[in-house]
Amino acid sequence: MTTTPRFVVTPSTHPLSDAERAEQLRVLSFGRTFTDHMVVIPYRDGAWQQGEVKAYGPLMLDPSASALHYGQAIFEGFKAFSQPDGSIKTFRPEANAERFNRSARRLAMPDLPVDLFMEAADLLINLDAAWVPKNVGESLYLRPLMIATDAFLGVRPSNEYLFVLFASPAGAYFPQGVKPVTVWISEDYVRAAPGGTGEAKCAGNYAASLVAQAQAQEKGCDQVVWLDAVERRYIEEMGGMNLFFVYQEEGKSVIVTPELTGTLLPGITRRSLLELARDLGYESSERKLTVQQWRDDVAAGRLTEVFACGTAAVITPVGKAKANGFELSINNGQNGPVTMALREALLAIQHGTVEDRHHWMHQV
Ligand SMILES: *Cc1c(COP(=O)(O)O)cnc(C)c1O
Repeated sequence: MTTTPRFVVTPSTHPLSDAERAEQLRVLSFGRTFTDHMVVIPYRDGAWQQGEVKAYGPLMLDPSASALHYGQAIFEGFKAFSQPDGSIKTFRPEANAERFNRSARRLAMPDLPVDLFMEAADLLINLDAAWVPKNVGESLYLRPLMIATDAFLGVRPSNEYLFVLFASPAGAYFPQGVKPVTVWISEDYVRAAPGGTGEAKCAGNYAASLVAQAQAQEKGCDQVVWLDAVERRYIEEMGGMNLFFVYQEEGKSVIVTPELTGTLLPGITRRSLLELARDLGYESSERKLTVQQWRDDVAAGRLTEVFACGTAAVITPVGKAKANGFELSINNGQNGPVTMALREALLAIQHGTVEDRHHWMHQV
């Protein structure tokens, strides 16, 4: 009996030479360089079809493809790390596969089986293994996405989709060392409203955030902080990252993060740090936090550090917050000890220099 293989692999006819690749890997930024291959899996007739692994390159799309008009499009982001023994491991890829499916359901798109997502990622990473950078702080960033491809202008869920996965070597996010950012607390724009798409990694959320980010920059800030859409009091996220607030309570450090209300993106880094905190002897708490509370607690000396977290930058300290009418300095604008300890601990697990007690790493 023969079964159709899930993927057909057609190696690129024009991969970069070792010297060319080494040159690309020498100076890394984020999201500008792509590896030699990509994976595509079409969905039609109610089923995922045979996938293809082939040379990275442009997609052919009908101009009437519905993703281009109505934004039925989702994505994910996770990383592969070179390990001390030379092997490659990805960080919590099943969690990304599961979140991909939650995003898909919100956008009326089909689920992609988790094992198919995993197989696609492992295939691509193995084929382009030479592209996984070796230095601490560097990684191979994996970008899965799904778009609606029906050539039809009616507004309804598409019948055909394309899953695409490609990879991009990523450099250390802070090549000059970790440095706190300044944030603008936005009162003019919101990212997500109850019942909306804030929990999904869908393309439109990011398009809608760009003017708020531009406004933050006009105000001399690096990033925008989002408040809840209804009362405009509760702190939700920073740009495309989750936020944490470090409190000193009864001689203990407590890391506090806004609870998931349906308008926050449930970050995998966020979830991991809540678990990791316990290993480092910190307590953790998910609760609502207002801007006024933030100001009062910094003034009272209870709130000592603020940081943001996400796959791309891991952990970014927040040194200053600005809004209409006030400005707030946190930890004198310096990196805080709890922030840096969590950052080191997470990077050590990802790079395989400490035991992976939580079984987060997946051997490719
Ligand atoms: C992706 C994302 C995050 C971070 O999620 P991770 O799984 O930690 O990378 C946080 N907020 C938003 C809005 C995001 O899109």
